[in-house]
Amino acid sequence: MTELQALAAEIAQCTKCLLHRGRTKAVPGEGLEDSEIMFIGEAPGFHEDQQGRPFVGAAGRFLEELLESIGLTRQDVYIANVIKCRPPGNRDPLPDEIEACKPFLDQQIDLIQPKVAVTLGRFSMARAFPKARISQIHGQPRKIGGIVYYPMYHPAAALHQPSLRRTIEEDMQRIPKLLKQAEQMTESELPAQAEQLRLF
Ligand code: SF4
Repeated sequence: MTELQALAAEIAQCTKCLLHRGRTKAVPGEGLEDSEIMFIGEAPGFHEDQQGRPFVGAAGRFLEELLESIGLTRQDVYIANVIKCRPPGNRDPLPDEIEACKPFLDQQIDLIQPKVAVTLGRFSMARAFPKARISQIHGQPRKIGGIVYYPMYHPAAALHQPSLRRTIEEDMQRIPKLLKQAEQMTESELPAQAEQLRLF
């Protein structure tokens, strides 16, 4: 068993926040364990909770299309979420739930050591871009602790707001170049709230 698999087994048994009570299955994450690129979504929805896999609903199909547009498949990347158990009715995760679950995502990033971590949506963006507005910073990378964080809208946003689809597709197209440039990029000046990321 790899360290990531052991972590997934630990997540499946976790009771650190109340979300464990409503879950069918925890959704630890899946994909290539030494991938250069990691996608970090928000929280499992209905289908993810049923199957124990991330991004398997309509937003997942769009993510697969986006990956295909840059010559990748799900098997080439690692996909995880900020929160590993489904919030009831797909509500936004609460601050104490995000805090309770944070060590799992920290460990996943630490074990995978991606060159690029793509944050999908507001809650994963907040790890590297605290207090930022996604409409202002999507598509703008920032290197922190040796990892390039790249904020994008959540694919589900395009399902609710079709005008965002093109923006998401365009941001995706910049990823191959970003992967090539990641090692040469200089570390960003950090807002104080993001300083803790250096501790990964
Ligand atoms: S959401 Fe995270 S912290 Fe809460 S029970 Fe699930 S795995 Fe544990």
